[in-house]
Amino acid sequence: MVITLSKSSPLLRKAYCAFHFARNVSQSYKLVVAGGGTAGLSVSNCFSRILGKGNVALIEPKNVNFRYFSIIMFQTRFALQVHYYQPLWTFVGGGIKDVKESERPIRNFIPPHCEWIQNSVKEFLPDENAVKLSDNSTINYEYLVVAIGIEMDLDRIKGLKEALNTEGVCSNYMVDTVTKTWKCIQNFKEGNAIFTFPNTPIKCAGAPQKIMYLADDYFRKTNKRDKANIIYNSSLGVIFGAPKYAQSLNEIVKKRNITVNYKHNLIEIKPQTKEAIFEKLETGEKVPFKYDMIHVTPPQKPPAVLKPLADSAGFVNVDKETLQHTKYSNIFSLGDCSNLPTSKTAAAVAAESGVLVENLNAFMNKSPMKRKYTGYTSCPLITSYNTCILAEFDYNLQPLETFPIDQGKERTSMYYMTKDAIPFIYWNLLTRCLYYGVD
Ligand SMILES: Cc1cc2nc3c(=O)[nH]c(=O)nc-3n(C[C@H](O)[C@H](O)[C@H](O)COP(=O)(O)OP(=O)(O)OC[C@H]3O[C@@H](n4cnc5c(N)ncnc54)[C@H](O)[C@@H]3O)c2cc1C
Repeated sequence: MVITLSKSSPLLRKAYCAFHFARNVSQSYKLVVAGGGTAGLSVSNCFSRILGKGNVALIEPKNVNFRYFSIIMFQTRFALQVHYYQPLWTFVGGGIKDVKESERPIRNFIPPHCEWIQNSVKEFLPDENAVKLSDNSTINYEYLVVAIGIEMDLDRIKGLKEALNTEGVCSNYMVDTVTKTWKCIQNFKEGNAIFTFPNTPIKCAGAPQKIMYLADDYFRKTNKRDKANIIYNSSLGVIFGAPKYAQSLNEIVKKRNITVNYKHNLIEIKPQTKEAIFEKLETGEKVPFKYDMIHVTPPQKPPAVLKPLADSAGFVNVDKETLQHTKYSNIFSLGDCSNLPTSKTAAAVAAESGVLVENLNAFMNKSPMKRKYTGYTSCPLITSYNTCILAEFDYNLQPLETFPIDQGKERTSMYYMTKDAIPFIYWNLLTRCLYYGVD
């Protein structure tokens, strides 16, 4: 049986909420936001203010972390649902920040006027203006924003899952593996230190090499650098997409004696022999590399559940300027799960959410959508323990810089801004919809 509840009866809806997970009931909201990461939190905060109580629902399953609370002899365990500020994981892997600094209780960021549905979308039903949840209940909407991010695809590299539990194999890309990166860097004594970039779209395309520059700097500080071969094996054909910053990075890898092999895609790890097998993308040849440590950036993929809304690559198909779905006009998307042809970053999300909120609000009010997204994205390329190149660019890979200085140069000011100021902006302004980034 399906019972639809009107948004105008909050008391009734609350009562039904109590039974919601046990019964096949359906709820209805003016706006449903699927995914409560960087993008979903920002958008749901904005629209909760615009539309008021009872009109916005956020569907977010959320990671559960266990915390221990002790009183004298008694220790009790409680579950905490957290949101992660993923850009901090470069600093965690480099031993600069504790992983706990990257997490906060998600409850702190969900607006009081917004209904948090702690579940995940199992199926998008755009022709019925509904989503089906993993408990088979359905949620109806007038408007939908899709922001469910991108997934790690560990199975694409043979042996990777098992190898991540063995010596010398690490990755900054997952909360469970990021702290091991710092151990690998510290434990490294000599030999090959390999850093990889996969053959799929990824979030933060600068992160695979940022951790390499930190490792290089650490090896120099601890007198291990002359015994280390640092190798960057990338599936791409260039060091970085935007030419201005690529030029600076090319000079850095040369100056620091880092070997760069382009069109090399990691396909297998053999921890027993400490070998990483790469496929040369141009010839198909398979080449083994011995490793003493290897930082793996896993292949990534759009969640399969996006299929009814997706383009041929599996990402939500939206207009690159308005962020409106190309087929379903009441659906918008942003962030890592969208097919916006820009680099997938939290900085891009900041700019995208400003455009999306203004355009969707105009669309709801039957006004023309005037804001156009330029593709603004940013990547703070950490190049040592006190320098950073702050790359900011648009769809055409042209610089779109915030500061009146040459941001293509390594700067200490940009390092501290990335380490301390940007996290403050993220926690206090972006996730609460008080900051829209640059656009
Ligand atoms: C190592 C690393 C370094 C990075 N460095 C930077 C940086 O320096 N600068 C920068 O700007 N960005 C950086 N990023 C990228 C940035 O973190 C992401 O681009 C950003 O978080 C994307 O936001 P999102 O909301 O699209 O996705 P996410 O924040 O990943 O959120 C997606 C949400 O959707 C939820 N979800 C998934 N499936 C479902 C479902 N079926 N139903 C409902 N909910 C679902 C998930 O639980 C999650 O909370 C980095 C990322 C990593 C991993």
